[in-house]
Amino acid sequence: METLILTRLFPEEIAEALNLEPYRGRQIFRWLHKKRVFDVENMTDLSKELRNQIAEKCVLVQSQIAHIRESFLSDTKKILLKYRDGQFVECVVITHRNRVTFCISTQVGCPLGCAFCATGKVGFKRNLNAGEIVEQVLHLLSFVDLGKKNPNIVYMGMGEPFWNYDEVTRSIKLLMHQLGVNIGARRITVSTAGDVKGIMKFADEDWQVRLSVSLHSADDNLRSRLVPLNRKYPLNKLAEALHYYQEKTNRMFTFEYVLLSGVNDSLEDADALLQYAKQFKCNVNIIPWNPVAGLNFQPPSKEACEKFQNYLTQGGLNATMRREHGQDIEAACGQLRRIFLDSTQNCNHHQ
Ligand code: SF4
Repeated sequence: METLILTRLFPEEIAEALNLEPYRGRQIFRWLHKKRVFDVENMTDLSKELRNQIAEKCVLVQSQIAHIRESFLSDTKKILLKYRDGQFVECVVITHRNRVTFCISTQVGCPLGCAFCATGKVGFKRNLNAGEIVEQVLHLLSFVDLGKKNPNIVYMGMGEPFWNYDEVTRSIKLLMHQLGVNIGARRITVSTAGDVKGIMKFADEDWQVRLSVSLHSADDNLRSRLVPLNRKYPLNKLAEALHYYQEKTNRMFTFEYVLLSGVNDSLEDADALLQYAKQFKCNVNIIPWNPVAGLNFQPPSKEACEKFQNYLTQGGLNATMRREHGQDIEAACGQLRRIFLDSTQNCNHHQ
């Protein structure tokens, strides 16, 4: 008999799988997603018999916290989770002023191999199921006192979300469920490296979840070197998909642009970006690169960052610079995992 993974099921699916009344499915879902109780013995409104049945047939939680790093420079915590098969992923909680953001992963490793990324160096291990994705949020919630606020959730950790499309969209629906975490769609952002097929599908979804696209260069030659996915979906194909997205949804999206010294941070690079981005209703988020051991890039100077940003702003784009959170804790995605694994075995999608 196949083991039931409860954190990836909706209330009605739980009830059906365990042959229960619908309200029982809602009760169990609430225990997991709202109260974050993962020990069936603590689900006090379930009968002993039902608790035994759940313990016998189901996996309640697939992950445990393996390691936590706190930043001394900013209010950022990086959490390494270990899954049942021994694989690790990382997720991050960033508190800035009144805003709490969770950055979560969708794959173990990543198949896209972007040149500047710690995760890309690891290669691809496997997709996460929707429950494993949701559990990152459930764990991160225990690290923050949100009061009545909701966190923002960005699918910007390890992995390309659109290469795990069905489980990613299922996890979003689970996180938005009223009986669970109940996050508003506009608080969720999915970040892709430019998977055109995924963008088109995402445009057809009936929700207001936000989109961001990791661009990093508006020149095909350079972008193909930095983001190899560009060879499959070059800038003109990406532009077609983004036009389709905006026609269908009428929503803004964000271009993420990691600045690498001497690679993509000149005013010519800024101008190419300006010309490309101007055809859309979009924002640009500039991210100064965080050094990653073993990668031969340099972070840009403060002056280069400011010049780059000013050029875009003067050209009429809304260009923000992401503050560097948690540089002292290897907050670029994939870094903690690598450093941890390096130190135990011998642990920037988006950065
Ligand atoms: S930058 Fe993102 S898409 Fe590229 S290799 Fe890293 S995790 Fe994958």
